[in-house]
Amino acid sequence: METVTASPEETEALAARLAVRLDAGDIVAVSGELGAGKTTFVRGAARALGVTGPVSSPTFTIGHRYEAPVPVAHLDLYRIAGLDPEEWGDLEPYFDGSIAFVEWPEHGGDWLPKARVVVTLTHVDESHRKVRIDSDLGL
Ligand code: ADP
Ligand code: MG
Repeated sequence: METVTASPEETEALAARLAVRLDAGDIVAVSGELGAGKTTFVRGAARALGVTGPVSSPTFTIGHRYEAPVPVAHLDLYRIAGLDPEEWGDLEPYFDGSIAFVEWPEHGGDWLPKARVVVTLTHVDESHRKVRIDSDLGL
């Protein structure tokens, strides 16, 4: 599906609708340039999954793992230039039993397990973003 959101809140709400259909072990790849709304999307999804604290970009670390009924992982591979086996070994625990959202999935290369959902965000103008969701979840 593809839609245009008119505010960060609308992007969060769309993410929340997707999130409740996800299961432990699912990976959601979230693509788009800087400022496209990737972290905003993940925030909306994490809230819907029961994460109560702040959800911000993992800037100084590669990822966060939040406790929730099903743990939620949030990774940002922006600074990764192709994973090697050792780096993948460091990342693997984030995915274990969680619902995982990955910003800049392209940087993960072949090591990243296949995503169940691929979200692509594109700037339209200051407040509008095109959101494309490819999945088998009916959304
Ligand atoms: P990214 O993680 O892709 O770099 P962020 O989610 O951190 O992007 O930032 C997106 C910025 O764009 C935020 O400042 C947010 O308020 C703003 N924004 C404006 N309109 C939208 C929209 N429709 N959806 C998502 N974010 C939006
Ligand atoms: Mg981000």
